[in-house]
Amino acid sequence: MGIFDFNKNKDSNAKKPAGEAKETPKPAEKETEPVADVKAPAAEVKPAVEAKTPLNTAPAAVAKPEAPKIEEKKPAMSCVYGPIGSWRFGRSLGIDMLCTEERTCNFDCVYCRFPRPGKVQTERKEFVSVSKLFDDINAVKGISADWVVFAGMGEPTLASNLGEAITLVKSVLGLPVAVMTNGSFIKHKEVRKALSLADMVVLKLDAFDDKSLNAINRPSGVFSLGKMMQQWQLFRLEYKGKLSISMMLNDLNKGEIGDLQYKARLIIPDQIQLSTPLHCEAMKPLSKADFEKCKQWFWNFKEVISVFDAKVPAVEPLNAADTEKRHPTAKKEEEKVSKT
Ligand code: SF4
Repeated sequence: MGIFDFNKNKDSNAKKPAGEAKETPKPAEKETEPVADVKAPAAEVKPAVEAKTPLNTAPAAVAKPEAPKIEEKKPAMSCVYGPIGSWRFGRSLGIDMLCTEERTCNFDCVYCRFPRPGKVQTERKEFVSVSKLFDDINAVKGISADWVVFAGMGEPTLASNLGEAITLVKSVLGLPVAVMTNGSFIKHKEVRKALSLADMVVLKLDAFDDKSLNAINRPSGVFSLGKMMQQWQLFRLEYKGKLSISMMLNDLNKGEIGDLQYKARLIIPDQIQLSTPLHCEAMKPLSKADFEKCKQWFWNFKEVISVFDAKVPAVEPLNAADTEKRHPTAKKEEEKVSKT
């Protein structure tokens, strides 16, 4: 069949008069494959259904299928919050690599700003993927901030991908990065490695011995302040960035302020951050007079900043509700400082 058609076309082209405008050659048609003689499948014969309803009985009403319930999906929480006006960092953009609905920490500090009990977490793991962080930080690219601070609703070193997260934030936002930590995981080499990528690390030191550690910071499990401090000293030797020590001065540690400043000195910090619980009902803040007396002990440290002295810039967060959740004291703290 195909061969016959081809020859016929050839003959008719030969009979065309000379000088006739040439036709645009069409792309050669594919020779059609001979179609196999396929028999149409026999129509499916449905088995006859026997009517079971007796003639004098009305057919049972057919129940309408229920509409499927559509579960309302909550929008995924962003890893980014703020910016907030911070007495420690100025205009500060927060990163939360835990993104949990409740506080997630291995400590239970008396003055913690997050609701109790929260989730006690002693194992490090990945809470949020780095690809989610990538999307979230790209959404705020170009934002004006002095620092990007890894903090959020718990202990940031619990996130096992902290190092990757710091590298990513630095490369996308091009801003200096700080991590606020309770320092209890610094014993792990991978935590020290991750923290070494930050421009600034802030360690929490409120206790002067194990008893006060258990009274103020209330860690989960057995902790020794002495051992933790040895690990901090090791970190100090390795770390090239700015190391800061944050102290929450209160009635439980003000009497041992001399010992506290001595311990801080052993870490050789670049900065001391002094605060008192202004945002907490469970623990009273020091009076300004007591606070100033404590502060005098640090007169010969390289740099000392305090919650009463530092200027807090006025900043509007991108998402006020979300920021209030991750940094619930932002407003109260500013108000109390201005009233004191
Ligand atoms: S370490 Fe931080 S998050 Fe954890 S309980 Fe203490 S203040 Fe709260």
